[in-house]
Amino acid sequence: MTWLELADDAPFGLSTLPYGVFSDVGTPPRVGVRVGDRVLDLAGVARALSHERADVFSQPSLNAFMQLGPQQCQEVRAWIGQLLEDPAHRDLVERHLVDVDSVVLHLPVEVADYVDFYASESHASNVGKIFRPESPDLPPNWRHLPIGYHGRAGTVVVSGTDVVRPAGQRRPGSDGVPPFGPSASLDVECEVGFVIRGPTELGASVPVSEAREHLFGVVLLNDWSARDIQAWEYVPLGPFLGKSFATSISAWVVPFEALAESQVPLPGQDPPVLPYLRGETDSDLFGMDLHLEVRVNGSLVSSPQFRDMYWSPAQMLAHLTVNGASLRTGDLFASGTVSGTDPATYGSLLERTWNGTDPIVLEDGTTRGFLEDGDQVTLSGWAPGPAGTRVTLGEVTGTITPQGHPRRGHSLG
Ligand code: MN
Repeated sequence: MTWLELADDAPFGLSTLPYGVFSDVGTPPRVGVRVGDRVLDLAGVARALSHERADVFSQPSLNAFMQLGPQQCQEVRAWIGQLLEDPAHRDLVERHLVDVDSVVLHLPVEVADYVDFYASESHASNVGKIFRPESPDLPPNWRHLPIGYHGRAGTVVVSGTDVVRPAGQRRPGSDGVPPFGPSASLDVECEVGFVIRGPTELGASVPVSEAREHLFGVVLLNDWSARDIQAWEYVPLGPFLGKSFATSISAWVVPFEALAESQVPLPGQDPPVLPYLRGETDSDLFGMDLHLEVRVNGSLVSSPQFRDMYWSPAQMLAHLTVNGASLRTGDLFASGTVSGTDPATYGSLLERTWNGTDPIVLEDGTTRGFLEDGDQVTLSGWAPGPAGTRVTLGEVTGTITPQGHPRRGHSLG
């Protein structure tokens, strides 16, 4: 029940309440909560009510808020629910609600470290078939550990930021000289990002059973990938410049509290994993029932299902720290491309078009092997919420601009 005029099935209803950072004309960036098509100015309403944590909402990132810890974050979420449901707060709260279209949305998290995993069996085996046709589809370690690599935290950008087509070296032809120039096979990777709260001590690892304490929330994430640059550079140390030019995340971080109903059993792991990757109870090894969509210029090109993923987010976090690497608040790890066995669920154009050999047709009749300048890619999604409601995942969008083209910074809305 709420005094808000918000339909039960409206996007960003009361079962979602994601956090972000916003500003409007002449005001500094601060923490807000998305409610329908409006933003609740948490900094303003907390100050007006002399909330004891008002200071953390006046920051230009979610980091100080996340670091309060799971207990206090849950209390804040309950408090926001009361503000929106109790008519006694209506006058005050309405003064602090602004249209999302009238604000600038900022990168919500000061990203500490960024790691990208490779947790979809279908994606890993498709990439194996395309890039290493002479070898087995999956490398021998794949079922024993969640494979990952360290990405570039400083180039994580908020949804709406233009992406400049990267230049780089490509595999040489018969003359043996690597060609250099703008990537000719720029791709999207539809992923889910996990925002982490810390800190943990150097030398300490996070067991699977304690992962939830550190999982603050979920963003949708586009791991833009230049396949030609990647294919030439990645042996033997893994992805580098083919990935590090930009990684886009949604402006809205959906807290884990909103995703309780979306947690489902994993599809199954065979052979059994080592003890540090096992939970203490079955529910420690959760999958997530997240329904994702990939659009290019508005045309739906794929519908990845996160419940198909082989590795649990809790296992990824346990593996990330098993060597004693410490966590910091603001760490971000991503799942890897979400792909199922059906081609209509492949989360990259590399797979969807089989390295450009089988182009897709967009609604305007044009075809794509990979992305062209001016193309806009949008990832969106939802998860089951309480009582048949839907939790809306924050969308992430970005437009490809050619080399040397002036880029826009933040988007509106
Ligand atoms: Mn990736």
